[in-house]
Amino acid sequence: MSEQPESGNARRVPLPGLASLAACADRMDAAWSLMRELYRICRSITGDGVRKTLARVAAEVPLEIVEVPSGTPVFDWEVPREWNVREAWIADESGQRVVDMRDHPLHLMSYSAPVDAVVPLEELRPHLHSIPEHPDWIPYRTSYYREDWGFCLTHRSLESLRPGRYRVRIDSDFKSGSLTYGECIVPGTSSDEVLVFTHVCHPSLCNDNLTGIALAALLAKELRGSEPRYTYRFVFAPGTIGSITWLARNEEGVRRVRHGLVVGLVGDPGPLTFKRSRRGDAEIDQVARYVLGRISPSARVIDFSPYGYDERQLCSPGFDLPVGRLTRTPNNEYPEYHTSADDFTLIERSALAESLFACAEIVRVLERNARYLNLSPKCEPRLGKRGLFRSTGGRHPGEFEHALLWVLNQSDGSKSLLDIAERSGLPFELIAEAADALVDVELLRPLGAAVEGGRQA
Ligand code: ZN
Repeated sequence: MSEQPESGNARRVPLPGLASLAACADRMDAAWSLMRELYRICRSITGDGVRKTLARVAAEVPLEIVEVPSGTPVFDWEVPREWNVREAWIADESGQRVVDMRDHPLHLMSYSAPVDAVVPLEELRPHLHSIPEHPDWIPYRTSYYREDWGFCLTHRSLESLRPGRYRVRIDSDFKSGSLTYGECIVPGTSSDEVLVFTHVCHPSLCNDNLTGIALAALLAKELRGSEPRYTYRFVFAPGTIGSITWLARNEEGVRRVRHGLVVGLVGDPGPLTFKRSRRGDAEIDQVARYVLGRISPSARVIDFSPYGYDERQLCSPGFDLPVGRLTRTPNNEYPEYHTSADDFTLIERSALAESLFACAEIVRVLERNARYLNLSPKCEPRLGKRGLFRSTGGRHPGEFEHALLWVLNQSDGSKSLLDIAERSGLPFELIAEAADALVDVELLRPLGAAVEGGRQA
């Protein structure tokens, strides 16, 4: 390998603390303690549960908390009334509580209207939800956009209810309050942005959504010490209405988004999965495919579909942002999805560590990927006289020399370093090092980020 010139500031590889899978695994104690604290909070799309969640995340990274008043129009929607709950339970005739949300926040259907009544079992029955195929699991149900109330319980408890009268008490309220989201911005040398979006509205479910929150918080914390090229914007918001609200308030700002990832469901043992952006050929699609393929042979890339999490809004045609989604097993494709079985027994440290490593690698490639121009494009320039060819005559050039030749040959301004890495089969880092060395001897000039203006011209 040739002696490399001293790397300038622009060449620093970001996220040194997440440089390997082992380094990411070392962060899992922090991830687990954050998730354990967040697990018991009764979150919904609005209310104090989201605020408490964001306050805990803010202990890890500085968050700007935004409160958007109920009733604010946001495209075809409006910010709903704020919902909070103090207690919710059902008691039998003897006063014994047969369901109590103190035992598990999932017992109450989220956004349930207040109730205080005594009703016979037949009348109560339509408000009770269970999963007969999994009699020990509690389902997760919501009634966000229709006024209703309900309880979720194990099928075993449901079956054990005897005919009779039951006292039902839900001490909840809807008020004109606000929807809350949080943003952590890590400034870069460029105002071009990378968006990382995760939802924060599910109560007491681990894979969906605590792993996403933990990963985003860890990544943001690490990037803050990295002086990145891009500006990174982490958004912690309730699903769907949160991203719709965020987009409505940032219609101008999203023009700066060059790349983005929705992160969620990243701790189950399923294979790493990248869901392409709606565009399908954005730089993030190429980078994620490349990175995931190198990390794990079982990693998958799936096509965009207008179903899933906040990519549905970020990739709606009026925005069409270059945003993909990183998950493991996609939503609705594992039996524990949206049930109490999505708990700490479902998620694995090695899986979340691998997801974090994938994000760090994606960031590293995005940070270094760029297009260059060969300043001596007529025939090969003489590398030996510039000290770049270590040996001449009789010996085959080594990998680094190959990388130099590939970079020179392909750098007509149209190819990015990742394009060159993929075409040559040489590692991206080696191609990037070769480009740095060629810049140092003035054979190459950077043309800036691989994608200008967010969209391929
Ligand atoms: Zn969900």
